[in-house]
Amino acid sequence: MEKMVNHQLIPRGIKDERVIDAMSKVPRHLFVPEKVRDRAYDDCALPIGFGQTISQPYMVAVMTELLELKGTEKVLEIGTGSGYQAAVLGELAGKVYSIERIPELTAFARANLDTTGYRNVELKTFDGSVGWTDEAPFDRIIVTAATPEFPQPLIDQMSDDSIGIAPVGTRFSQMLLRIRKDKDKLTESRFTPCVFVPLLGKYGWEE
Ligand code: SAH
Repeated sequence: MEKMVNHQLIPRGIKDERVIDAMSKVPRHLFVPEKVRDRAYDDCALPIGFGQTISQPYMVAVMTELLELKGTEKVLEIGTGSGYQAAVLGELAGKVYSIERIPELTAFARANLDTTGYRNVELKTFDGSVGWTDEAPFDRIIVTAATPEFPQPLIDQMSDDSIGIAPVGTRFSQMLLRIRKDKDKLTESRFTPCVFVPLLGKYGWEE
C-alpha cells in the first residue's frame, strides 16, 4: 500500500494530502476477488467479475483529487463496482451515495464496505445515469464508467456550488471532464485521457 502511494501516486503529481492519506488507509486488497488479491496494489485495473473492473489506483486518486473534498460533502458515485472508490470517498466526505446496475456487484461492494467499516456509504442497484432523485442535490458527483456525454440528470442533481466529474468520450477512450456549477453557471475543463468500462443505461450507452 505504501509502495502504491510512493511509486504510483506521488511521483505522478497527486498532491492533496487528504487524498494520499485516504488511499494509504483504505485496504484495497479487501475490495478485490481473492484470486487477484496478490495484485491488489499493482499499477492497473483488475477484474471484479461480470466483465467489470476496479479502477487503477492512480485514476482513483486523480478523480478524487479533482473533487476537492473538504469533509462535509454529500457525494454521489455512479458505478459502485467493488466499493473501493466509495470507501475512499467515505474517508474524505460526509456522506456517500453510490449506484450500481449489477445486483451481484452491489452485494459484493456492500460486503466489502461492511468488512472494512465504512458506514457512511449508501448503495442501491439502479440505472445510475438518471441519478438518485430522492437524495438530490449533491455537492459532488463522480461517474466511474465511460459515458458519451455528462448525463443531464446528473447535472440537474448538482447543488449550487458543486463539482461533477466523468470520463467522457467514445466506448474505447475518454477524457476526464470536470463540470463546476456555481449557481446557474457551468464551467467545463478537461483532464487526463482514460479508458473506463461503459455506462449502460438511459443516458449512457444501450444495454
Ligand atoms: N468505482 C468502481 C469501479 C467502477 S467500474 C470501483 O471502485 O471498484 C464501472 C461500474 O459501473 C461497473 O461495475 C458497472 O457495472 C457500473 N455501471 C455501468 N453502467 C451503470 C449504470 N447505468 N448505473 C450504475 N452502474 C453502472
